[in-house]
Amino acid sequence: MPETVMGPVAGLGATLMHEHVFGLSPEILWNWPDIPEMWDLETRVREAAAKLEELKAEGIDTIVDLTVVGLGRYVPAVRMVAELTSVNIVASTGLYTYDTLPPYFANRGPDSLFGGPDRLAEFFVRDIVHGIGRTGVKAGMLKCASDHLGMTKGCERVFRAVAAAHLETGTPITTHSHSASRGGLEQQRLLGALGVDLSRVVIGHAGDSTDVAYLEELVANGSYLGMDRFGIETISPYEDRVATVVTMCERGHADKMVLSHDSYCFNDRFDDDVVRRRHPNYHLLHVSRDVLPELRKRGVTEQQIRQMLVENPRRIFG
Ligand SMILES: [Zn+2]
Repeated sequence: MPETVMGPVAGLGATLMHEHVFGLSPEILWNWPDIPEMWDLETRVREAAAKLEELKAEGIDTIVDLTVVGLGRYVPAVRMVAELTSVNIVASTGLYTYDTLPPYFANRGPDSLFGGPDRLAEFFVRDIVHGIGRTGVKAGMLKCASDHLGMTKGCERVFRAVAAAHLETGTPITTHSHSASRGGLEQQRLLGALGVDLSRVVIGHAGDSTDVAYLEELVANGSYLGMDRFGIETISPYEDRVATVVTMCERGHADKMVLSHDSYCFNDRFDDDVVRRRHPNYHLLHVSRDVLPELRKRGVTEQQIRQMLVENPRRIFG
């Protein structure tokens, strides 16, 4: 049974596969805690739970929270949200970097200043098997990232550790990929070489691409495509994102796509007003309220929508 923040559940139902509850900057919060409107735990928890309840009313049962170390993961707060909402939240482990590792890890491990074993995989497995921090919340998804710099040394260490934790625990993997450079293929090559079954991998942000040949290559290699940034229109506009999903459905790939926004209930790295102005559709309800009706209008069937929202997530979690 898939693990959620509140424990294992029988089924996840309709699932948004790439979202975030909180994105925080711990060192800012430690050092400038009184800056107004930054972070008030009780307020932000209540707001987040209310946003998730709105999502539930739109027919979404589960979100996968891909906030890992490097993005300000703070599971005690996520747990408080989970207690106030009927939406399942799946927590994740892994590390988010486009380049180097945080010094804690960069100074230890193979080819580092102090050498010794690479403990990243041990940390990830601990999150999956024993739980994150002292919360008892077990991670249900692994996450790794590479971006425009490609598979740097730091990224490769994370991918190797994620693969090792996956092989040990069976937990599925979601990546952050850079579609403009067709970065998902390099990710697949490395994960495949490390023995990962690519059908347990979601190539995240594949939906930033309109290159059907690239997307079909990722699918042919076995992975799922994260059509997961609906609302981030500076990277790819609504029209292109929708058209690409429609085309991929027409070409028979509804069984290989998952949908999401990559949005946050609260993120201290974004200014709320600026986000509302520049990305008016960047919120948790955009898929339910705008994207799904548009997909239906363009001929995507209920069965295909069910595949993308319910059946593919269920298969990914095994
Ligand atoms: Zn994300």
